[in-house]
Amino acid sequence: MVELIVLGSGSKGNATLVRSGRGAVLVDAGLSCRQLVARLEAAGQDPARIDAILVTHEHVDHVGGLPVFLKRYPTPVYMTERTAEAAAARVARAPQVVPVVAGEAFDAGPFRVTAVPVPHDAVDPVAYLLERDGVRVGQVTDLGHVTTLVEARFAGCHALVLEANHDRDMLLDGPYPWPTKQRVASRVGHLSNDHAAAALARLVGEETCEVVLAHLSEVNNDPGLAEAAAGAALADRGRRPRVHCARQHAPSRAVRL
Ligand SMILES: [Zn+2]
Ligand SMILES: [Zn+2]
Repeated sequence: MVELIVLGSGSKGNATLVRSGRGAVLVDAGLSCRQLVARLEAAGQDPARIDAILVTHEHVDHVGGLPVFLKRYPTPVYMTERTAEAAAARVARAPQVVPVVAGEAFDAGPFRVTAVPVPHDAVDPVAYLLERDGVRVGQVTDLGHVTTLVEARFAGCHALVLEANHDRDMLLDGPYPWPTKQRVASRVGHLSNDHAAAALARLVGEETCEVVLAHLSEVNNDPGLAEAAAGAALADRGRRPRVHCARQHAPSRAVRL
């Protein structure tokens, strides 16, 4: 069995637990160490028994909890070389920083993992595909648009965590300064609900049973809008995976495959 729990997701911090009976990994550690540990323990996961932390990119909402977590729980950290340079201070206490090369599969804990480059305004951002016993799980957040490479790599995952960051109208009418609105909506920013929905129509296959919409803005989005957009796009394609939104301040429902 593979189990996935988005421990928290949004601009205040991101972390996802993926585990099998044989071990566990974290994708990102952007929650505070205190929150991360509390949410791992609530999920019945001993933080000292995380085999690897896979980092997508150096933005603070993805690496902010690393320094304190690594001090308490020495854990190998996997990231691309350029991300490791950008996040050097955050991983200074890691027992091991393992360089990841996009497109080259590697083993982390019980999973076969592949990093896939994504378009986002960080030095070398990636999304991760995790595989075990024929089960494929994808975590795709922080990207301004969905590339053909992302579509090819993540199509037909059994479970897919996909960013649905903002409702375009809420973003444009909302309180952010104009340059920030432009950045978020750009091709190296974040996916809107409509972008995510259009991508889901292509990514979700017959074997896909769970979709978690993630990295929702608390200011510029509403879970009901994100789910409605995704649901409409999937219904058009005749697909019926379960869809729910990850939350910022609490873990989301456990996905079991
Ligand atoms: Zn982020
Ligand atoms: Zn980011």
